[in-house]
Amino acid sequence: MARDDSILPDPGKYLTNNLKELYADAISQLISDLGREVTLHLPPIESGCPNCKYLSVGGRGLYKYNSSNPFSGPPYNVPFADGQRCPVCRGTHIIHIPRQSTWHATIVKRPRDYDYEFYGVSPENVVLTKFLVEAWDDVNNCIRATIDGLDYERLSEPVKIGLGNNPEDLKFINVFWKRVT
Ligand SMILES: [Zn+2]
Repeated sequence: MARDDSILPDPGKYLTNNLKELYADAISQLISDLGREVTLHLPPIESGCPNCKYLSVGGRGLYKYNSSNPFSGPPYNVPFADGQRCPVCRGTHIIHIPRQSTWHATIVKRPRDYDYEFYGVSPENVVLTKFLVEAWDDVNNCIRATIDGLDYERLSEPVKIGLGNNPEDLKFINVFWKRVT
């Protein structure tokens, strides 16, 4: 059956650029005023160990402390005696440097609009956060998040939201989390 839109006014008169800006400003202001810090834990970077050098001495390998280690102290600068196992990389010569970033986000505990039964989670363990779209890469890549001092993992794929259907209208990210600690 064909839809008769003739009783509707012409499209595009209400959802003006001004209104979109007003909406984006208001939500950004909410994130700034009501939001709290959320720490996103990102995959660690694998790196060569800065604390040791591998030397070939008389046909066998020797680990030696790297005195030009750019780090100034633990955990990445721990001097050790020649031939001992490097305490930083435990002799693997590879270290994993943790990364994290901090973003402001509004935090809704026990959010509505979530099918707790279907996903088998209890409401007290679920939060909904809203970030600025600038956090997109970190929200997507993070392994877990610290929210109000507790650890969470993503319960849903992040979704870009905004007023309007154009990519540039999608200025915010909604993502659900489940408590893991
Ligand atoms: Zn090392």
